[in-house]
Amino acid sequence: MVGSANALAGMREWWPKLQEGADPLDCALGVVQRVEADPNDRSVGLGGLPNEDGVVQLDAACMHGPTHNSGAVACIENILHPSAVARLVMERTDHCLIVGRGAYEFARSHGHPHTELLTEEARRIWMRWKESMSDRDDRLSPPPPAPPPTKGEKHGSLRKEEGPDFTYGTIHCSALSAAGEVSCTTTTSGLSYKIPGRVGDSPIVGAGLYCDMEAGSAGSTGRGEAAILSNGAFACVELMRQGASPLDAGMEVLKRITRQAERAAKWQPGLMGEDGLPAFGVNFYVLGLDGTWAGVTLKGKNKFAVSDVDGGPRHEPLIPLHG
Ligand code: ASP
Repeated sequence: MVGSANALAGMREWWPKLQEGADPLDCALGVVQRVEADPNDRSVGLGGLPNEDGVVQLDAACMHGPTHNSGAVACIENILHPSAVARLVMERTDHCLIVGRGAYEFARSHGHPHTELLTEEARRIWMRWKESMSDRDDRLSPPPPAPPPTKGEKHGSLRKEEGPDFTYGTIHCSALSAAGEVSCTTTTSGLSYKIPGRVGDSPIVGAGLYCDMEAGSAGSTGRGEAAILSNGAFACVELMRQGASPLDAGMEVLKRITRQAERAAKWQPGLMGEDGLPAFGVNFYVLGLDGTWAGVTLKGKNKFAVSDVDGGPRHEPLIPLHG
């Protein structure tokens, strides 16, 4: 199993079941649904930071290697487990992706309860962001002290006036069973304070996740637009199909993303930092069919979660492309 750092607690629970022969998709979904229900993770499900209107909009997808099928929901509101709804889209419809109100109604029709996902603390952080956005509006800047730091990864921002507690974050999990079957899932509240209706990479098969029984599995967190523009997860899997190791595959995609950002910066200068590196973060979690794995990042020191026969569930450092 391999996934983002916040997958570790779920891996501790689900790794033994995977080893006992449980379906890899059941295990991957079990891992992430724990975090969807955790009000303290600001990047996923309940307690996730809302869009600019203060509404929590979730994206999620899953992919099942043995049947090469996928399901996803995007911009779904008031549903605690979007990854479970993604599975319903996969198993109970002929579609791959349902969005917005339709996704909510679909979830409700399958018995998912209406749930308020904006916790009091997330609302407070959002309001603080709103009040700090500009000194050219009628909201006064919030007084100190700052609220406690958020749990969730900081991947960097392109926004010039970065407000407090600006957070990217997501959970991805890829799983490989002893029988050699792969599956994966990614679920998120997406970029905090996003434009309502914005969809990131997480529910996009090929961008935020991809698996193929002939090649392996991969997923991403971080700047979703970069994962979409590079077709990142698909590219990792495709490179493994051609013989690359998980580490080489992930690094190659990060190199592409760097070159793509350099080109795009001609129109959007904020994409590149003064240090000549992309001004944003992207991570890939890559799992080969032989059980080899890698976690890679554009830059910085972050961790990811892994579980294998050698060591069981643990954190490992992400390998940075730009040391
Ligand atoms: N990839 C997610 C998105 O762009 C956010 C993240 O993983 O940090 O919505």
